[in-house]
Parts: sequence; C-alpha cells; structure tokens
Amino acid sequence: MKAFTHNSAPSRVVFGSGTVDTIADEVRRLGRSRVLLLAGPRWNVLAATIADQLGPLAVARFDDAVMHTPTEVTEHALDIARLHDVDCVIAIGGGSTTGLAKALAVRAGYDQIIVPTTYAGSEMTPVLGETTDGLKTTRSSVDILPETVVYDVDLTLGLPPDITLTSAINAMAHAVEALYSYDANPVVDLMALDAIGSITRALPVVMADGNDLDGRAALLQAAWLAGSCLGAVGMGLHHKLCHTLGGSFGLPHAPTHTVILPHALAYNAAAVPAVMDRIAGAMGVTEAPDAMFDLVASLDGPTSLAELGFLDDDVERATELATAKPYPNPRPVTPAGITGLLTNAVHGRKPV
Ligand code: NAD
Repeated sequence: MKAFTHNSAPSRVVFGSGTVDTIADEVRRLGRSRVLLLAGPRWNVLAATIADQLGPLAVARFDDAVMHTPTEVTEHALDIARLHDVDCVIAIGGGSTTGLAKALAVRAGYDQIIVPTTYAGSEMTPVLGETTDGLKTTRSSVDILPETVVYDVDLTLGLPPDITLTSAINAMAHAVEALYSYDANPVVDLMALDAIGSITRALPVVMADGNDLDGRAALLQAAWLAGSCLGAVGMGLHHKLCHTLGGSFGLPHAPTHTVILPHALAYNAAAVPAVMDRIAGAMGVTEAPDAMFDLVASLDGPTSLAELGFLDDDVERATELATAKPYPNPRPVTPAGITGLLTNAVHGRKPV
C-alpha cells in the first residue's frame, strides 16, 4: 500500500471552441471590473474584440511579456496596472504571458483569467519562475494560481509546427515525471497516463494538419491534464536539468524539454521499471525512452542540445549546477551520470 496526499487546484476551467467569447462573463463572475489585458502583438485583433466585449471593464493593455519573466518587465507592467487601478488581469498567450500575469497577481493580488495558446501548462500551477540579473528563481504560493483558465482550441490552430511539437513534448514531460514523482498519487497518475496517450496519438495528426480541430483539442486537453500534474506533484531530474539549461545557459524552454526528455527517461528507467511499463503502455510501445526519442525524431523535432547552442564545453558547468543540491529523483543524481546524459544529448545520440 502507498499512502498519499492530494490537493486539487481550485481553478475554474472553461474548455471548448470559441470560448474566448465567455471572457467578459468570466470577469463578471469573479466580481471584477477593471481589467488589464496582457496579449502580445500577434493577438492584436483578438485583443480588440475582447476589449469590445469587455466595454468599460477593459482599462489597459500590455503587450510586452517575454520568456522567463524578467522582473524589470513585471515592474513596468505593474506601473501600468497601478496607474489604471486594475483588479483583474487577462493573459492571452503561452507560458511567458501567463508568467507575467502570475508575477503581477502575486505582487498586487489581482485575479487572473488565463487564455493559454501553447501547451506549456503554467496556467495550472501555483509556481512562478522569475529572472533577475540573469538568475532564475522559482516560488510557489496559492496567490500565484490563476482563478480561471479559458482554453479555446481555436487559438491553437495557428501554432507553427515547431512550437506545436516542442510545446506538446513539454506537456508530455510534466506527465512523465508526475508518474515517478516521490509524491505521486492515483488521481495524478490517471491524468498523466491520459495526457501521455493523447499526445502520442494526436501529435502526428496535428503535425500533418495543424487545423485538425479534434487533434488540436486532444493536445490542448492533454496540456491541461499535464499542467495539472505539474501543479500537483514534485518533478524530478528532467525538470531540474531543463531549469538549469534554460536559467543558466539561456536555452529555449520547450525545445530544451524536447531534447532532454528521452534522456531523462532512459536515466531513470532501471530505477522505476513498473513506471516505464505504464508510460510505454500509454504510448502503445515497448520501450518508453526509445519511443520518445523516435516520436520527436520522426516529426523533425530537435534531438540534440548542440542545435540549441549548448556544446560539449558547457557540460561540466551544467553538471555542477544540476548536481549542486540534492533533489528527489528515482535514480540517484550523480555527476558522472549527468555528464554522460548531457554528452549524449549534446550530440543527439539515442539515449542509453
Ligand atoms: P512562450 O509563451 O514564450 O511562447 C513561445 C512562442 O510561441 C512565442 O514566440 C509566442 O509568441 C508564440 N506563440 C504562442 N502561442 C502561439 C500561437 N497560438 N500561435 C502562434 N505563435 C504562438 O513559450 P511557452 O513554451 O509557452 O512558455 C515558456 C515559459 O513558460 C517559460 O518562461 C517557462 O519557464 C514558463 N513555464 C512556467 C511553468 C510554471 O508552472 N511556472 C510551466 C511551464 C512553462
């Protein structure tokens, strides 16, 4: 028997096609009346439509969120929010825009309505990663968790193939590591297995036709489930490595997850064979690490860190950083083990 504790995230989730039309109602439902809209330039038309629907509830817009949530950008957005006496933020975009909404909410107590346009899953977690002077730190608090998440599959139809692939594997990574988490539990396991199966089936479909609505819906739903896993249980080696590579070497978030995941799976495989069997079962294969590598390679995704700008010379420093503090992982994290993993990943070798 395994004892466990499970906390359900208190967020409200609205999922469907055309759901952005419910946003004004969602603001009223929260009892809020002064909205700051966070949306990058690519969403200008949608932002204008939502501003129309909000009418006098829309009081300001900020369109300059960037990856890894630099605090100077947050301070600039906070000045605008304060100037307009905001009580609610609506974020339309990927994890970078969601990160800015969270950073504002934790500083000023605003309610958040998040409209995710990638599969990063940040909207389902009470975690915020921020960068100050090039150093990335994370913090966790219930104030960071968004009140409402509006998933509109229509907004993902234009997601380019490279971002579609890497973002979906980013979601896959949350689900995979949840299954071998030190605090895994049966509810999270179900969400994780469902997400892994859906991504494995839907990703090739969507890569062949980015407008396949059912495929896109399956990926977005999997992103929700995988993000819920990320928010509910602790992650292991894979997330630690990606955090190091993103935070200290400036590597792009989702592509880094995509390269590292097969290697992290292979590293842990012998320590948790039953979990590997469950992952393989969800994917419909026999060997999970191999199959994960093949899935990415068959869809022309990134398989080497070298193509992301991380080279052999960087391995030693990354190993030091990733092994500096102990953290829970099925297989002990050793410098020799991490050096071997990263070296294989630099060269895009199939994981061993
Ligand atoms: P992102 O938000 O930077 O988006 C990646 C790119 O895709 C951007 O250029 C963006 O403009 C574009 N894009 C987004 N949606 C699009 C669409 N529908 N159509 C066309 N282009 C679109 O990247 P991301 O991978 O979504 O998020 C990464 C960030 O989120 C990182 O800062 C990461 O640390 C953070 N994150 C945090 C958590 C958490 O729980 N705190 C979880 C996952 C990711």
